[in-house]
Amino acid sequence: MNMRIGVYPGTFDPITNGHADIILRAVKIVDRLIVGVARNAGKGPLFETDERVEIVKSELKHLDVAAAKRIEVRPFDNLLMHFAVEVGASMIIRGLRAVSDFEYEFQMAGMNNRLNPKVETVFLMASDKYQFISSRFVKEIGQLGGDVSPFVSERVAKRLAQRFASEAKGAAQTATAKRAPRVAS
Ligand code: ADP
Repeated sequence: MNMRIGVYPGTFDPITNGHADIILRAVKIVDRLIVGVARNAGKGPLFETDERVEIVKSELKHLDVAAAKRIEVRPFDNLLMHFAVEVGASMIIRGLRAVSDFEYEFQMAGMNNRLNPKVETVFLMASDKYQFISSRFVKEIGQLGGDVSPFVSERVAKRLAQRFASEAKGAAQTATAKRAPRVAS
């Protein structure tokens, strides 16, 4: 029997409870799920690709063991459709939140279909509990010292806190260096 392989691509900067929910549901409809972490340098991600991959991998360890066994996390840098073909996927899985996602996802699915009609895009509706969660707002809230624990796992929340603490430290050091009197010039 042919194995049904699906790719769930995204930036995952960082992985939220919404992403984790889609992963858990996607794995019910495929035999094997590849979580594709896009390098996506254009989006100016907070975490490096390797870090995002590692964070997703460590989240998988906390999922149901049988499901986790069928999931693989891989970075990718090329065209999504090429990546999908490379891993032998017959479907691309995307999560769909409110109306705002629709236009972009609709275009992307349409263009991907033109690129390769053999690979179907499948949308999973975001669960009502996670509907409003986005990595972007999680980062904004975290950076301003807000509580991100309702949106991400405690491990991801810790990572974010560490990252923002080290950024703040770096900024403070730069400010001190700027303020330091010049002894020589
Ligand atoms: P991208 O840059 O490809 O949009 P994201 O990491 O932001 O990467 O999102 C990856 C996928 O997960 C997208 O299909 C997005 O719609 C979906 N997604 C993001 N957040 C949620 C959420 N809270 N619930 C369901 N799906 C989500």
